[in-house]
Amino acid sequence: MIIKNVKIFGEDKKFAEGEIGVEGGRFVPVSEAGGDMVDGEGCLMIPGLVDIHFHGCVGDDFCDASLEAVANMAKYEASVGVTSICPATMTLAEEELHNIMKTAGAYRGTEGAKLVGINMEGPFISEKKKGAQAAEHIRKCDVQLFEKLQEESGGLIRLVDIAPENEGAMEFIDAVKDKVVVSIAHTVADYDTASEALRRGAGHVTHLYNAMPPLNHREPGVIGAARDDEKCHVEMICDGIHIHPSVVRATFAMFGADRIILISDSMRAAGLSDGQYTLGGQDVFVKGSRATLADGTIAGSVTDLMGCLRTVVKKMGIPLEDAVACASANPAKEIGIYDRCGSITEGKDADFVLLDADLNVKAVYVCGKKQEVKA
Ligand SMILES: [Zn+2]
Repeated sequence: MIIKNVKIFGEDKKFAEGEIGVEGGRFVPVSEAGGDMVDGEGCLMIPGLVDIHFHGCVGDDFCDASLEAVANMAKYEASVGVTSICPATMTLAEEELHNIMKTAGAYRGTEGAKLVGINMEGPFISEKKKGAQAAEHIRKCDVQLFEKLQEESGGLIRLVDIAPENEGAMEFIDAVKDKVVVSIAHTVADYDTASEALRRGAGHVTHLYNAMPPLNHREPGVIGAARDDEKCHVEMICDGIHIHPSVVRATFAMFGADRIILISDSMRAAGLSDGQYTLGGQDVFVKGSRATLADGTIAGSVTDLMGCLRTVVKKMGIPLEDAVACASANPAKEIGIYDRCGSITEGKDADFVLLDADLNVKAVYVCGKKQEVKA
């Protein structure tokens, strides 16, 4: 297949008019491609998006520990242009975590988005900043438990979240930092504690600003520590609800686009209408693009990653090129899959999205296979 008449988003983060071939599920030079000719009609051709932090969509949640749920999520995400998924677990009873990991490890679905990892959000977090996580299942960092879960998942866990101020957290970082990305999350850590965690090998911050103390001029906390460590990458939930647009712009200025990863943090109501749902066993009420617990705590988002990309570009003033990289190349690099996806590069999986000038999804391909696009 040859895709022509498109503006291709390159590894240099620039759009250039051109054409590219797809053969055997991968990008190839046009000279090596045969078969159909796809006229992109002047669309923007961007890499398929990579969501490394979301919980569910269309009624399903990764924590349902069901193969069917994972398959449904994969199908929906592909339909909106998210071609690689790394869903998140929550703070749950140990037995449930084992079930979720075993289910993910057994998943062999070939339809829709590719399951490329798991983000372990909890249970090693702080009760003081639990957000929508269940307090009764929060526990101390436990290397053995992590390793058991990793084994059950077949090595899919790419990120593990910890509150660095918790007992044993630094030793946990020492033990696992070479096997998984350790992320600072759901925490009340001060600047020094967060800096120490980053020095010892943590390298990521989960939904920056949410579930942590704010950046205070005398107490810069996790946000200041993350900013000062050039190796640290940060996630932001850009659904327009979790972070004020001004703060999103300030964060791009502070960190630079190369260190930012857009995530959706979507829960099972994404892709559905208003109503009552659950997240990690707790009731969640959805109205418009806002999802909250009964007490008003924000409980994940209902916007998929493509919706977040549109929001940062159209409502927050972030350049399209930065937004695309922050939702494709950056997350792919962070979880170690950039050698096979995250950019439109010969040799990589042919995962791509065609967008019109208004950023509506016109076509989605996963490994060169055309997906059904959400109406
Ligand atoms: Zn989450």
